[in-house]
Amino acid sequence: MPSCLFCQIVAGNIDADVLRIGELTLAFRDIRPQAPVHVLIIPKEHLANVAELTPEHGPLLVETAGMAKWIAASEGIAESGYRIVTNTGPDGGQTVDHLHFHLLGGRQMTWPPG
Ligand code: AMP
Ligand code: ZN
Repeated sequence: MPSCLFCQIVAGNIDADVLRIGELTLAFRDIRPQAPVHVLIIPKEHLANVAELTPEHGPLLVETAGMAKWIAASEGIAESGYRIVTNTGPDGGQTVDHLHFHLLGGRQMTWPPG
């Protein structure tokens, strides 16, 4: 059994509120939502964070963008707008070491983030 939490979700060993499964990615609701819509989009493949992406991961990033667009439409926030964030390392606020993109929407986002 893989030790990584998100690899366990990909494997189906831990339950998650999965919204969509793609060829290379998976999208599920964040367990502690920070906005009315808070979805995590992750690669099925284990990558620690964006620093591990290489040119071969182009299709993965394209699928991630398409996934975000599809979820935004299905959640009704395509027009109101949304934010996509990925945290890297301790100062970036990363707490799960499996690459994930937060899709946040349904409220006005502040800038700069705290
Ligand atoms: P980060 O702090 O950027 O690494 O984001 C990790 C995110 O994963 C946080 O927003 C957590 O609320 C979320 N999270 C942790 N465990 C789970 C889980 N089992 N299912 C869904 N989301 C989770
Ligand atoms: Zn993993």
